[in-house]
Amino acid sequence: MEKTFIMVKPDGVQRGLIGEIVSRFEKKGFQLVGAKLMTVSRELAEEHYAEHKEKPFFGELVEFITSGPVFAMVWQGNNVIATARQMMGKTNPADALPGTIRGDFGVNVSMNIVHGSDSPTSAEREIALWFNQEDVSEYEKTINRWI
Ligand code: ADP
Ligand code: MG
Repeated sequence: MEKTFIMVKPDGVQRGLIGEIVSRFEKKGFQLVGAKLMTVSRELAEEHYAEHKEKPFFGELVEFITSGPVFAMVWQGNNVIATARQMMGKTNPADALPGTIRGDFGVNVSMNIVHGSDSPTSAEREIALWFNQEDVSEYEKTINRWI
């Protein structure tokens, strides 16, 4: 079953949006298979956002993501990578539609509440980077036969 890495960023944690975000993915029918509240090291932040190393906002991005605890998660489900991205909305909350997480709660592009893997390749890389294999739980959910 497909898996993706989703993270409530420090602004989402500070604003009390962990439950709201978990709830949206749960209600959609996706399955939570790993989760932890953690403070991100500079090393992990730089590795996670390595593709943006040359961007002008890279320093600010690393500062932000290390500035307070994040809620890191692994979600599983049919087409979860692309669907989670749709549920998050566009990177810039100003462009994100109402009904999406960023559209409903975000205000600016650097503090946009949530991260989600953008492809199967990045999902695999990010899950391996953030989680030990034994901290991702495979378990049966009988409701899955309905969705
Ligand atoms: P996404 O998070 O939607 O995959 P990107 O991978 O393009 O977006 O960018 C990673 C993160 O970097 C964004 O979520 C956002 O927090 C930050 N970011 C992107 N573009 C900008 C920008 N122009 N200025 C400041 N921060 C940005
Ligand atoms: Mg991205």
